[in-house]
Order: sequence, then C-alpha cells, then structure tokens
Amino acid sequence: MNTTTDIRPPEQARALLGKLRRAGYEAYIVGGCVRDSLLGRTPDDWDICTSARPEEMEALFAGYRLLLKGKKHGTVAVVLDGHSWEMTTFRQDGQYTDGRHPDCVRFVPCLREDLARRDFTVNAMAWSPEDGLVDLFGGQQDLQAGILRCVGDPEARFEEDALRILRAVRFAAQLGFRLDPATAAAARQARLTVRCVSAERIFTELDRLLAGFAAGTVLAQYGDILTGALPEIASCIGCGQQGRWHCYDVWEHTSAAVGALDTDGLDARSARVLRWAVLLHDMAKPLCRTVDEAGAAHFPGHNQRGARLARQILQRLRAPVYLTDGVCALVAVHDGPLPETDLAILEQLHQRGPLFWQRLCRLKLADLAAHTNNDAVAQRCREVRDFARRMEYLARTGCYTVSGLALTGSDLIAAGLTPGPLVGNTLEWLLQAVMQGTLPNRKEELLQAVRSRSV
Ligand code: ATP
Ligand code: MG
Repeated sequence: MNTTTDIRPPEQARALLGKLRRAGYEAYIVGGCVRDSLLGRTPDDWDICTSARPEEMEALFAGYRLLLKGKKHGTVAVVLDGHSWEMTTFRQDGQYTDGRHPDCVRFVPCLREDLARRDFTVNAMAWSPEDGLVDLFGGQQDLQAGILRCVGDPEARFEEDALRILRAVRFAAQLGFRLDPATAAAARQARLTVRCVSAERIFTELDRLLAGFAAGTVLAQYGDILTGALPEIASCIGCGQQGRWHCYDVWEHTSAAVGALDTDGLDARSARVLRWAVLLHDMAKPLCRTVDEAGAAHFPGHNQRGARLARQILQRLRAPVYLTDGVCALVAVHDGPLPETDLAILEQLHQRGPLFWQRLCRLKLADLAAHTNNDAVAQRCREVRDFARRMEYLARTGCYTVSGLALTGSDLIAAGLTPGPLVGNTLEWLLQAVMQGTLPNRKEELLQAVRSRSV
C-alpha cells in the first residue's frame, strides 16, 4: 500500500480546501477518494467534507456556479472547469425508521462524528494538506489487510441502512477484500432486510459487483448474503449436480463461471450482458431437477425456463431492455449444440448476427471452465473454440446478409423487376443461393440467375 504522501488531489480540490481553510473552516477530502488513493488507484471523484454550513459555503462561493439540490443534506457543489465538486457539511444521520434513509440529518461541528456515520473503516478516512491522514477507526490497517469492517456495531449499522449489506459485498468484489467475520455475520443475519432497498439500487450494486475482478470468489463466499437481493440464489446453493461433467453444486458452478468469464476486447454492452448471463444461466436448474435410477441429476428444459426466469429477475430489478433481451437470448440456448456446417453457420449469422455468436462462445467457455477438469470437457472447449474461429472467419469473409450481396435492389429494378415486395423476395432468394454455394456472389452471375428464373 502507498503512503499518505501519495494522496494527490487535483488542483481544483486543493483550491476548494484552501479557500474553506482560509475562511476559518475545517476541510478535508474524505471517503472513497482517500481509500482509492491509498490503494494506488485513481479516484472517480473527490468528495470534500467541511465544518462550513451549506449557507456559509453558498456565501463563500458566491461568485461561482453552484448546484444546490443536495443543500438540505448539507451538500453544495461548485462547478469548476465543467466538473462539479461536492462539499458536504460534517453531519450525523438522524434516526433510521425505513431501514434505508435517515429521517433527518444533523450538522455537527467535528470531523469525528462525520467519519463515525460512514459505512466501512476503509471509507471513513479523511485527509488535508495541513493534518495529513485522519484515520480514527483503523481504516489503514484494514486496507492493508484487505478487510471490510463496519464502523461501529455492524448489526446496528446494517439495521440503519440495508444498502450497506450490498455495498459490503460489492466492495469485496471490486477490491478483492474479505468481510470481517463480525461484519459478515451481521450482513448474513440482516440479509432479508435488503428487500427495502429500491430495485434500481439493488441492480446497480449487483452490476458493479459482477464487474469486480474478484466477483467469482465473492459470489462463492457470500452467495448466502445475496439471497436477500436475489432470492433465487438460495435454491442454487447446495443444489447437487456432481457427476461426469460437474464437480460443483449449481451455485459453486455459477460463481466459478462468473470468475472464469473472459470479457477482454469486448464492447461494454457485451461485457455487461455476459456478466449477467453467466450469473443467471443455470438459475432455473433447481426448478428443473430430476434424478435418474442411477442417482444422476438432470435438468431438462433449464435453458428455456432459465430464460424466462432471467427475464423475470431482470425486469424486477428494472434492468435496461438491451440487457434483459441480450441475457435471455443467451440463456435460452446456452447449453444447446452449435451449428456445424458452413451453411448452418452462415444461416445462423443471417438470423442472429455475429455479436450474438461471439457472446454465446464466451458464455459457453466460462460455463465449461467451471465443469470437471477432464478430457470430455476439454474436448467441448476445443469445439467451441473451433466454432468461434470458423464463425469469425465466415462473419468476415462470407455473405450472410442481403446488404452483403454483390447487387442491390436498384440493380434488380434497373434489370426490369417491378419495384415492390418482389425485389425483397428476390434478394432473399439470391442470398439463400449464395449461402448454399449454388451461386457465386458476383453481380453478373446473380443478374443472370434472376433473368433465367423469371423466364
Ligand atoms: P464508489 O464511488 O466507488 O462507489 P465510494 O466509497 O466513493 O465508492 P460513494 O457512494 O461515492 O462511495 O460514497 C462516498 C462515501 O460516503 C463513502 O466512501 C462512505 O464514506 C460514505 N457512504 C456512502 N454511502 C454510504 C452509506 N450507505 N452508509 C454510510 N456511509 C456511506
Ligand atoms: Mg464515490
């Protein structure tokens, strides 16, 4: 871990701290930006906390463009160079009666109380050029040990605000940290209270968790805590499927697959679709489980059922439509066979486009990586890789869309076809012939074929 000298707030944050200090107020950068700086990461944003009240900040920064929508909670944002910089009055949260939001906030004069209301020790450190690092709850030590620990009594902190339970697991996935045992036990105990967190917030936290580099490990370790957010996980935990293919139960397998997913080189949407698809791909297995005479588990219909369940879950969480549709399409066929011949591959490229098949290959490889490590599984991986190579090649060089044909509708009209549905149908017919290899994709030959067909 770096030393405190590595905290280097940008010019603008320093200027704001300096102005508050010169006016006689205390001012620090605080929270996530201090944590990330100490970890050697570049913070997303730099939060400032101060003893100045909102109206005092308004007066002090009267000549600046201010955003005041958070003023009631103590936050005044100054716009500098097109970016807004938030400054929040030291505050203490009032009673929590809804398990999520404080009924009121109380402004307090000292930093200690402001730090004490923060969620985890690693998020409860402040820094200023004058005082250096202010670490009153052992945040640095926990950062070094990779531990998320509630500030104060974990049971009380989770009872106040159930979102913290999800934040704990999400930070663990992003930072590769563990939960302190008392914090983990309290989170487990209070897991069902996550129901009072809004669907949008649950989605955002799970989404960020899945994008964390340690997501696989964290899901395996803290899946039970997440059952408050995603009740479907409960029946996956311990759902047996071990046999020739599987060495894990359904939840261990899912977690391992999330950990094995390779999103390198993918666009952001595909990466996100895949993370959720891997999480949800086998979620219907507990609903489809049968056992044969030999005692082996089978899951007939779990692809289709899984797609329906994934849609229900993602709609419940108010996920974006592209994500829901993308995930369901993949889950519906995740375990099915891949097209083998060039013609079958071209037809599939025609129907679904290369992006779908690229995604499906990544999903299949993540799925297979979380199976028993044996020759049969290795053979399936090779088949997926071979398919991916061939599919990519055909996607680059083959003709599988009407727009890839060497002639257009206008060419057909110029050759005498009546404008209207006939043109589209003829293009489709030509495309089929080109994909099947019965016609070359060259303008003259295509026109010739159309002429001889209409004779
Ligand atoms: P990130 O921005 O990566 O999510 P962060 O730690 O900056 O991480 P924010 O949500 O931006 O998280 O919140 C800033 C700070 O506010 C946190 O570091 C923490 O000190 C405090 N905080 C945020 N949410 C809560 C909460 N629900 N309960 C207590 N403290 C919180
Ligand atoms: Mg932040």
